[in-house]
Amino acid sequence: MSDQHTTGDPTERRTSPATRHQMLEVALGAARAGYHVFPLQVDGKKPIFHAKRTCKRSGPCSGPEGHLGWEQRATIDPDQIRRWWSTKPYNVGIACGPSKLLVIDLDEGHGATAPEEFEGARNGRDVLQMLARRAGEPLPDQTLTVSTPSGGGHLYFRNDSALRNSSQTGLGWKIDTRGEGGYIVAPGSVRPEGRYQFERSGPPAELPAWIGDMLAPPPEPEIAHVPRPRLELSGNRQERYVRSILEGEAQRIEEAQPGGRHHAVLTAALKLGNYVGGNVISAEEAHATLRSAVQMHIGVDDFSESEAEQTISDGLTYGARRPRYANRDRAGRTAAADQEGDQLAHRAATAVNRAGRGLAGDLERLRTARTDRHEPASGHRPDEPPGRERHHEQRQRHGIAH
Ligand SMILES: [Zn+2]
Repeated sequence: MSDQHTTGDPTERRTSPATRHQMLEVALGAARAGYHVFPLQVDGKKPIFHAKRTCKRSGPCSGPEGHLGWEQRATIDPDQIRRWWSTKPYNVGIACGPSKLLVIDLDEGHGATAPEEFEGARNGRDVLQMLARRAGEPLPDQTLTVSTPSGGGHLYFRNDSALRNSSQTGLGWKIDTRGEGGYIVAPGSVRPEGRYQFERSGPPAELPAWIGDMLAPPPEPEIAHVPRPRLELSGNRQERYVRSILEGEAQRIEEAQPGGRHHAVLTAALKLGNYVGGNVISAEEAHATLRSAVQMHIGVDDFSESEAEQTISDGLTYGARRPRYANRDRAGRTAAADQEGDQLAHRAATAVNRAGRGLAGDLERLRTARTDRHEPASGHRPDEPPGRERHHEQRQRHGIAH
C-alpha cells in the first residue's frame, strides 16, 4: 500500500513472522483496551505514514478531509490493525487524544542538576513527588505505568478534558505530558535499547484534579496597559488593514521551510502579539490565525504540536508587552515603523531560537534582546552543560514521549 511507505527507516531489515505476530498482538491488545493505535517504524518511534508536505491525496487521503495524519488514522478497528501489521513488526503508537488519555512522561535526569525550584531532584519521578507534596496530594502512581527503554516511565491517566501536550514548562523539570495532538509508544514495543514494559497494569486512573489544574491552558496574554480605541479608521479600511496583517503573518508561517519554521512561527507570533498589545487585533484572532497557519507543519520533520503551541503562546505574550498601535498614518503604511517592528521581532526570535525555548530563562533573554543590550542570547541553561543543549532542544521539539 502506497500510503504505508516508511518515512526514512534506514535499518530496513528482514522481518521474522513471529515478531510480526507479536507486534500484531500488542496492537490488538491495546485496541481491545480502548486505545487508538497506529504503526510506528520498526524498532523506532516515528509514525510510518507520509507527511502532509508529501501527500499525493491518494489512498486514505483522497477523501473530502484531505491528508490524514496519525491522529486521524489511529484506530481500534481490528481489521485495519491486521492490515497494517501484516507487513512488518511495526512498533505500536497510541494516539492519546482519541484514546482519552493524558500520559505523564517521566524522564531520567542522567546526572544533570535540577533547577532551583526542584533542587535535589534526580529525575522526573522526584519532581512529581515534590509537586504532589506541595499540592498536599498523594503521589499519583496508582495507575497503569509503563517503563521505557531509556529508564523513564509513563503514567497513564484517563482524561476527557482535551488537554494538549506540555513540555517541562507544564508540570516541571524532566516531565512532559501527552494529550491531544500527542502519542506514546505502547508497552510491548521494542527499541534497540530495550522494550517498553508494564510496570503496573490495569486500567488507567482518573487524572487527579490538581494535575489537570496545572496543565489547564494559560489565560490569554495579559495586556499591561490601557487599551486605546481599536483603530481610528473607517470600518472597511480597518477590516482590510487587520486582514492584511493577519494574512501576511500566516503566509510567513506557511512558506517557512524545515529549519526555519520555529523562527517563522515565533516572529509571526511576536509581531501579532505587538498588535494584540496595541489593541489592533484581538488575542483570539491572532491565536486562531497562527494556529491555523501552523497546522500544515505539524508532524512534518519532527515539528510537534506542542512546540508550535508553546512558540505561539510565548510570542503572543511577549509581543503584547511591546504594543504596536495603528492609526491613520500607519494604516497608510509608514514603511519605517513597519520595518522597525519587523527587525525587533526578528532579533527577538533569533535570540530565543538560539537559546532553546519555552523556559523562563529563555524569555528573560528575549526581553534582554528586545531592549537591545548585548547580553549573550545563546547562553545555555545553568542546569545543563552546553553539549546537552542541542539534545534537549531536539527532545522538546519531538513532541512525543520517549
Ligand atoms: Zn496524505
